[in-house]
Amino acid sequence: MSKTEAPYAATDEQSRGRRYEERSPKFRSQFQRDRDRIVHSGAFRRLEYKTQVFVNHEGDMFRTRLTHSIEVAQIGRAIARELQLNEDLTEAISLAHDLGHTPFGHAGQDALNHYMRDYGGFEHNLQSLRVVEELEERYADFNGLNLTFESREGILKHCSLENAKELGVLGERFIKKQQPTLEAQVADMADAIAYNNHDIDDGLRGGFLTIEQLHNEPLFEEQFEEVQRQHPKLDGRRQIHEIIRRMINRQVVDLLLHSRERLESAAPESVDAVRNQPEPLISFSDELLELHTQLKRFLRKNLYRHYRVHRMSIKAQHTIKSLFEAFFSDTQLLPPEDQLRVENYSDEKGEMGRARAVADYIAGMTDRFAITEYRKLHHPEELT
Ligand code: MG
Repeated sequence: MSKTEAPYAATDEQSRGRRYEERSPKFRSQFQRDRDRIVHSGAFRRLEYKTQVFVNHEGDMFRTRLTHSIEVAQIGRAIARELQLNEDLTEAISLAHDLGHTPFGHAGQDALNHYMRDYGGFEHNLQSLRVVEELEERYADFNGLNLTFESREGILKHCSLENAKELGVLGERFIKKQQPTLEAQVADMADAIAYNNHDIDDGLRGGFLTIEQLHNEPLFEEQFEEVQRQHPKLDGRRQIHEIIRRMINRQVVDLLLHSRERLESAAPESVDAVRNQPEPLISFSDELLELHTQLKRFLRKNLYRHYRVHRMSIKAQHTIKSLFEAFFSDTQLLPPEDQLRVENYSDEKGEMGRARAVADYIAGMTDRFAITEYRKLHHPEELT
C-alpha cells in the first residue's frame, strides 16, 4: 500500500485481478495499466465525436463525451487524492464510464433500447462493459482490454437484477445489495457534478438557458450573488465562468467534507469492508443533495426538453431507427467484420445474437458516422 492511500483504498494487493492472467506491469500499478489501455482504445477516441447534450456540429465549444469524460476524471482525481483513495483507479473508471454511449446522447440510447426491446434491450452502462470486455480488438491473447475487476465493477454503475444474474461475479453486488469500491463511488459522483455544471455552462452559451431562469436555483443563485459582490461590473462569459467554477467547488467541498465524516464514523478497514456497507460512503450532505436534485430537475425541464434539443433528439431517433431496421433486416449491408460478428452471435443466440451484433455496430458509431451511414443507405447519389 502506498503511503498516501488509506486502508479502505483499492490497491493492487487487494485487487481481484484480471479475467485473463497477465504478468504484473513493471513500472506502473495495475490501475495505471487499466487507465492507459482505456486511453489507447478506439472507443475512447470516438468519444470526441459523440454527443453529450448538443450534437457535434451545433458548435465547437460544446462539451462532447470526450471532454465530459476528461472533466469527470479531473473532478474524480481531486476528490480521490484528498480522501487518500486510489487516484489511478478513479481516473480509469471516469475515463471509461461512457465508452458504451451511442451516438446522439440519451436520445440515441433510448431509441436503440426501444428497437432492442425484444432482444434484451440496450443500456449504455452495460455497453461500456461490453466495450472493455469484448468489443475492443487490440490484444493477441484476448478480446476487450482485460481490465481489473475493480475497473469493470466501477464501469457498471447500474444494472437491472435480470442483467445482474447474467453477469456472474460482477453482477453479485446488485443481487446482494453491496457497494462498489470508494473509487467507483467517487467517479459516479464526479460524473453527476461534471454534467450538472457543464450543462448549465453549455446551455447558457448556446442561448438555451438564461441567467433569469436560473435565479430560482439556489446552487446557482448563491454563487451568482457572490460573484456580483466581488466583481460588480463583470458580465458575459467571464461572469458565467466565475459562477460555474464556484458551483463546482461548492459541490466538491460538500462531497469531500460529508464523505470524510462518513468514512471516519464507518472506518472500513479494507475494500471488502467498504463493499459490505449498507450504503455508499461517498455522498453529499442532505442539504446539498436536495439542491443538486433540484438543479437536475431544472435541467431536465428547461434544457434537455428545450425545443431545439428536442428537435435534434427526434432526428436522432429517426436515424437510429432507420439504421437498426436496415441492418437487422439485411445484415449483408454491414461491413465484413461486423457480418462475422453477426454470424458468431447468431450461432450462439439466433435472432437475439443478430440484434446484438447490429446494436454493437450502431452503438460504436460517432454522430457524424451515423449520419453518413444513414445518407449512404437512403440517398442514391451517395457513394457506398
Ligand atoms: Mg457521464
